[in-house]
Amino acid sequence: MADYPIHEYDVLVVGAGGAGLRAAIEASAGGAKTGVVTKSLLGKAHTVMAEGGMAAAMGNVDDRDNWRVHFADTMRGGQYLNNPRMAEIHAKEAPDRVRELEAWGSMFDRTKDGRILQRNFGGHRYPRLAHVGDRTGLEMIRTLQDHGIHQGIDFHMEVTVLTLLKDGDRCVGAFAYDRERGRFRVFHAKAVVLATGGIGRAFSITSNSWEYSGDGHSLAYHAGASLLDMEFVQFHPTGMIWPPSVKGILVTEGVRGEGGVLRNKDGKRFMFDDIPENYRSQTADTPEEGWRYVTGDKSARRPPELLTRDHVARCIRREVKEGRGSPHGGVFLDIAWIKEKIPNSVEHIKKKLPSMYHQFKQLADIDITQVPMEIGPTTHYMMGGVLVDAESQMSDVPGLFAAGECGAGLHGANRLGGNSLSDLVVFGKRAGEYAAKFAKEKPAGKIDQAQVEEAARRALAPFERGAAGENPFTVQSDLQEMMQDLVGIVRVEDEMQRALDGIAKLKARSAKAGSAGNREYNSGWHTALDLDNLLTVSEIIARSALERKESRGAHFRDDYPGKTVEWGKYNLRVSKAADGSVKVERTPVLPLTDDMKKMIEEQK
Ligand SMILES: Cc1cc2nc3c(=O)[nH]c(=O)nc-3n(C[C@H](O)[C@H](O)[C@H](O)COP(=O)(O)OP(=O)(O)OC[C@H]3O[C@@H](n4cnc5c(N)ncnc54)[C@H](O)[C@@H]3O)c2cc1C
Repeated sequence: MADYPIHEYDVLVVGAGGAGLRAAIEASAGGAKTGVVTKSLLGKAHTVMAEGGMAAAMGNVDDRDNWRVHFADTMRGGQYLNNPRMAEIHAKEAPDRVRELEAWGSMFDRTKDGRILQRNFGGHRYPRLAHVGDRTGLEMIRTLQDHGIHQGIDFHMEVTVLTLLKDGDRCVGAFAYDRERGRFRVFHAKAVVLATGGIGRAFSITSNSWEYSGDGHSLAYHAGASLLDMEFVQFHPTGMIWPPSVKGILVTEGVRGEGGVLRNKDGKRFMFDDIPENYRSQTADTPEEGWRYVTGDKSARRPPELLTRDHVARCIRREVKEGRGSPHGGVFLDIAWIKEKIPNSVEHIKKKLPSMYHQFKQLADIDITQVPMEIGPTTHYMMGGVLVDAESQMSDVPGLFAAGECGAGLHGANRLGGNSLSDLVVFGKRAGEYAAKFAKEKPAGKIDQAQVEEAARRALAPFERGAAGENPFTVQSDLQEMMQDLVGIVRVEDEMQRALDGIAKLKARSAKAGSAGNREYNSGWHTALDLDNLLTVSEIIARSALERKESRGAHFRDDYPGKTVEWGKYNLRVSKAADGSVKVERTPVLPLTDDMKKMIEEQK
């Protein structure tokens, strides 16, 4: 083998966001020699950007809340395509994971009597999101990172994994390069945990950071693992839309949780016009009742602005399409109006939503305490991911685990806000625990030199083509525009077919992508290497979306606008066929136990 450094671990964790850090802490606590690879710097993962909070039924603000209600809310939000066992584990274990973060140093906001404060969020029946202002992800990463660095875990920063290495069926490590010097490295591990986050960079308007190029999804797929629910991409209803340089940046749902309302250009609160039947009994009849809800009146029901994200995003799109949008193609989100209700509204907004206040002031010169914001939908979250076992988080490739946004199952067709941060710590912990167990029970597998050499050859190919090759940035941006236009918030068959034709052409262009210069911090080269992941996930999303001939959750088809009973029986599972093509198969949704059925009935 060429002389690449080889790092030996029991457990290798790919990703240092909330899921990766929590997995690494648990693997290390389980006695495994643990290494973490991250393509950015420690403390800079996407989790840092999370704003509104993490959902856990602690009942601190409303004592009617408990894990059974959280389970039912998560299942209803996911339109019953969720893995019910994962939804159960998540609802049961999230409170302990929040308390654990507190014990490790997280400074959550407090109730008057000193307990962890919880706020309202869409689709959650009671105030449930533990939060730190609107900077919850930052606090989570800070806490996990501080805790993690005392556990003897090795961190490899600015190192990107390019390929997973296999010994027969089993995953035994990864091939990677360091971004700073462009040198290759081999990681030899008994178990690998993928915690690489989402895919938002496959679209042009997104709240996601540069790290979200679908690496974990693509690495797992090419290593032979199955993916699930890849048609379900969440378009968050409220992203910034003006000025153009900030298009897509998230406006937290916390704004609506604190009383923010949506209005069209005529000043009308249009969300009252379209309340889905399955949420009618839980939704306020009047603005007055909605306001009482967000200010803590337990007898009131939530305002329609706090319906699930898929629904709110489509209502916004409808207003814009029917000519009632704002000047820059969105609608208005107004928190300033609460001055009619509370005297110290300016201080209140700045205290509850400090990041939003600064974000709009600095990026758009808008004072949200005085005037409404202009917002529109933005690509936000991937419900689909690596198919995993609910208890252990192991994929169908032995030794390969996945947790966090790159895993699938918990959220079904639509994730409730706040359910990701809790997902990261609940299933990150489990992935670390079971990966360590797996590593203890199995002997080390062998690294196959031919796989390493092939991965190195492919990685260096863009340099052979040099500046004469295709520009990787152009290929990337053409893909993003096309996915946004043809496989976005509203989908139809012929557009998705066109997208698949386009992806085939972009694949051919990507195979000719060239990089000039040398290997040291060469962003053109990095982009050329990301293209395969972006194209792989884009094709899988388009094929899955084409296959699901109904509208459910985040997947909306103009040519099949209704939800069908038949499609409610299946998830879509994707794997790589023997000829290298994408295989999409229906797989029956997992059955509910009698107790689960009862929980759902109780909350109807
Ligand atoms: C603006 C914003 C606000 C949000 N607010 C909330 C909220 O309030 N509540 C909530 O529940 N959710 C929220 N979310 C969603 C939530 O933040 C994410 O789903 C979650 O943080 C994902 O965590 P993760 O650990 O799975 O991945 P990440 O935190 O993204 O970590 C991924 C890690 O993988 C690394 N990586 C990726 N590819 C590779 C590779 N090939 N090689 C090596 N390393 C790699 C990255 O460098 C990074 O370290 C928000 C999302 C956004 C964008």
